[in-house]
Amino acid sequence: MILKNAKIVLQDKIIENGSLLIKDNKIIKISEKEIDANKEEVIDLKGNYLMPGFIDCHVHGGYGVDFETGDEKRFLTFSENVIKEGITSYVQASVTNSVEDNKKYLTEFKNFKNAKNIKGAKCLGVHMEGPFISAEKKGAHDPNLLVKPNIDLIKEFIEISNKNIKIVTYASELQDGSFTKYLINNKIVPSVGHTNQESYELEKDYLLGAKHVTHIFNGMSGVDHYRPGLAVSALTHKDILVEVISDGVHLNEDILDLIYKIKGADNICIITDSINAKGLSDGEYKIGNLEVIKKGIEVRLKSNNVLAGSGATYNHNVKFYKEKCLIPMTELIKMTSINIAKQLNIYEKTGSIEENKIADLVVVDKEFNVLYTFVEGKKVYER
Ligand SMILES: [Zn+2]
Repeated sequence: MILKNAKIVLQDKIIENGSLLIKDNKIIKISEKEIDANKEEVIDLKGNYLMPGFIDCHVHGGYGVDFETGDEKRFLTFSENVIKEGITSYVQASVTNSVEDNKKYLTEFKNFKNAKNIKGAKCLGVHMEGPFISAEKKGAHDPNLLVKPNIDLIKEFIEISNKNIKIVTYASELQDGSFTKYLINNKIVPSVGHTNQESYELEKDYLLGAKHVTHIFNGMSGVDHYRPGLAVSALTHKDILVEVISDGVHLNEDILDLIYKIKGADNICIITDSINAKGLSDGEYKIGNLEVIKKGIEVRLKSNNVLAGSGATYNHNVKFYKEKCLIPMTELIKMTSINIAKQLNIYEKTGSIEENKIADLVVVDKEFNVLYTFVEGKKVYER
């Protein structure tokens, strides 16, 4: 397959009127000139942007799917719908559940991961956002089900999931460093979040290798000049990758700008944190056992109006961040794909447009409408 007449977004430049040759699942050739068709299928991208496929490392569901409840088909339904947002890979997140519910969920998930012939986006594994978080910054998580970071428990979860847990969010001050080490030894990204810790408290785990922070500013101690919290240490440690919910609801525009200016494009990854109500009409839904109300892209707890995940799509968040902070396209691809691919150890294979890498790609227009999505070299979505 040949994609022609594309603005190909690379890290060092944009190729205007570029062409790309895809064979099987790989990018074989990137060219500034038109590639000889020679019986290949040719798609004219009409001057639109060709970017690496988006990778969302923190998403709870969408299109009526809540990863933690429902029938077996739900995982597939999500994978087949989320390609509309330009997502080619994702890590599905779970909220705080009872131990039994987590075991049930991870068992069902393992069966899905073993399934073949999935036509949608690739699920990379699970992001466990609970239960190892602090009651003081629980957000929309059920306070009755929280537990301290516990090695025996995570060991059991890892086994049940068949080693498919990729990220664990935890309040790092609730353990002595052994939990952090255990995650790292098991090739799981330790992500500090949902915590009321003081900025200095991150240090022991940072030195052990904790270099990921769950949705910066949301669900954590912030910027108080007498008692700086995790938001401050996440900003001041240059090499910590911070998840950012850039939907325009979870963070004020000036805060988005502050994060971009301090962290730079190299240390931000855009996430949705979206829930089952994404892609559905406004109304009342449930996230875990909690009742929520969706209005536009906002989803709030019915009981107290606290934000409870998002109803925004990934391409919306990309557009919002780019336009508010005037981020160049060559920088933006770091925030949507490259950084998180590196963090998840898949960058050798995917996450950027390079010859011999897997063809996980998205085509967007100037307004960030998704026109095409390609997963493993196959066109899985066309607008
Ligand atoms: Zn979340």
